[in-house]
Amino acid sequence: MKKHNFYAGPSILPEFTKEKTAEAAMNFAGTGLSVMEVSHRSKEFVAVMDEAVALVKKLLKVPEGYSVLFLQGGASTQFLMAPYNLMDKKSAYLNTGAWSKKAIKEAKFFGEIVEVASSADTIYNYIPKGYEVPSDASYFHYTSNNTIYGTQIPTPDVDVPLVADMSSDIFSRPIDVSKYDLIYAGAQKNLGPSGATLVIVKDDALGKVDRPIPTMLDYSTHIKAGSMFNTPSTLPVFACLQTLIWLKENGGVEAMEQTNIEKAKVLYDEIDRNKLFQCTVLAEEDRSLMNVTFVMTPEFAEFEKEFLEFATAKGMLGIKGHRSVGGFRASIYNAMPVESIQALVDAMQEFEKMK
Ligand code: PMP
Repeated sequence: MKKHNFYAGPSILPEFTKEKTAEAAMNFAGTGLSVMEVSHRSKEFVAVMDEAVALVKKLLKVPEGYSVLFLQGGASTQFLMAPYNLMDKKSAYLNTGAWSKKAIKEAKFFGEIVEVASSADTIYNYIPKGYEVPSDASYFHYTSNNTIYGTQIPTPDVDVPLVADMSSDIFSRPIDVSKYDLIYAGAQKNLGPSGATLVIVKDDALGKVDRPIPTMLDYSTHIKAGSMFNTPSTLPVFACLQTLIWLKENGGVEAMEQTNIEKAKVLYDEIDRNKLFQCTVLAEEDRSLMNVTFVMTPEFAEFEKEFLEFATAKGMLGIKGHRSVGGFRASIYNAMPVESIQALVDAMQEFEKMK
């Protein structure tokens, strides 16, 4: 039976990425060795890192004056590296969920944090609007896509530099990098396996804080060493490169955005139509194109477990909602084919007929 991978992360990757990585796991760049067993300083691996950096710059139209890094430690380490390197005395944060909250917690180790707005009052099912960002903040931090709650944010229009956690929607749409001092993303959604963390940092934003920064947590260290200060996660970076090649060959982030809009519409339309289900995110403009969160309508609440089993038996994997939201979450990242979304919609329609 065909498996449809709706996991939130680690999550679906292009077949191309998996095939090329599987090949390189046995014979990397004609070396006769696995990509896991050659030096990161070999000319073959240095070429992988260089091409990955160049493709990130090309796909996201990264302007001059920015560095692209592949680090380790996940997005969670960026929660502290961001304030460590960029925050003077104060910074502003938008609280749109568990990941924002974790970022805020780390930033508080470094100074005053202004939480400009929060949607915690209704389990983060909307994006707060109309907030004020203090003009003396070093930066404004937000989570562009809230993986758990199914909400997504367009680039905010504020007067201070932006810092964004784009872990779950990087490469899903074009972004104006020039508005950001820092963008970071754990690889394990739209890019590659876990173990690599993508960082795009504005060079001029660095070196402005007084506090001493430990070597490994200083972006400058990794910029100077071309992400090779210590051993990078070689196999994950190789896999990320394959996804970047796949992205380029498939029309880049502009084409991804179009397809993502069309793909998400198939599922949201069905949730809105089907009497059994309702979306947890009410305002259409807040709905994520990456993670679609929905629950049973109150009249049919008793059938939640039954639908989960029904859909799972039909090959839908990973659709159980996060425990803090309940219900279901279908993660439909770039690599998710519309056929899999249609299969979920078909299962929802079939289940409706049974009730
Ligand atoms: N931010 C967001 C938006 C996430 O979805 C996640 C979970 N993958 C994280 C941060 C934490 O990422 P990591 O596990 O790479 O530290």
